[in-house]
Amino acid sequence: MNYIVTIDGPSSSGKSTLAKRLAKELSISHIDSGSIYRAVTLYAIENNFIVNQKLMLEKLVSSLSYSDISLKENGNGIFKMFINDQDVEDKIRGLKVSKYVSEVAKHEEIRNYVLKIQREISKNKSIVMDGRDIGSFVFPDAHVKFYIDASLKTRSERRYNQLKDKEKGISILEVENDLLIRDNTDKTRKKSPLVIPENSLIINNVNRTIDDVLNQMLKYTKDIIDKKVS
Ligand code: C5P
Repeated sequence: MNYIVTIDGPSSSGKSTLAKRLAKELSISHIDSGSIYRAVTLYAIENNFIVNQKLMLEKLVSSLSYSDISLKENGNGIFKMFINDQDVEDKIRGLKVSKYVSEVAKHEEIRNYVLKIQREISKNKSIVMDGRDIGSFVFPDAHVKFYIDASLKTRSERRYNQLKDKEKGISILEVENDLLIRDNTDKTRKKSPLVIPENSLIINNVNRTIDDVLNQMLKYTKDIIDKKVS
């Protein structure tokens, strides 16, 4: 039986790390939906569809239909983001993309474009997908749903530690500010905002180790899937 596990939560709550580990333990694929929005944003930046901090939405949308933004599997269930055959995994994690991604992701046209990629990539396989609207909108009938949260302080420290070597001179305040702005845009947008999905298990992972949270998620998932199969 193929099954879907969704993991939603705010930026840097730890959901991608948990999603990756959970998928590995379950021997199924992991798809980080944020990476698709990030790739679209990188594409917009590199093709000058963001001018004076303003997104040229119509131009971007029509250009997307000629571009090739895709996730490719490396054979181990791990997907990487490509734009026109170029691996952009590193580039999409930078601060510049982070700064604009929520603004790009709030538009219905962009969400519909990403939705097609999400549904297509998930066909005929079991997956763990993480993001903001996965259990509420993309896969409302998913078999297992999680909502992962952590305090702003913990999330900022995590993100800062990920970025500090790549983005020289970056401060923790800058990171915290970026997270606050993104949280606000993600929670207040009209189209599929970040919400706690119905029937999801809420986990606050402050002061817990990854292994501890992972074991809880693994047990919860296996219990549900075993019941469905038997
Ligand atoms: O998870 P990550 O921080 O990489 O996501 C980047 C951005 O993409 C989020 O801040 C959000 O604006 C957008 N996103 C979204 N819906 C998703 C996944 C990500 O709107 N399912």
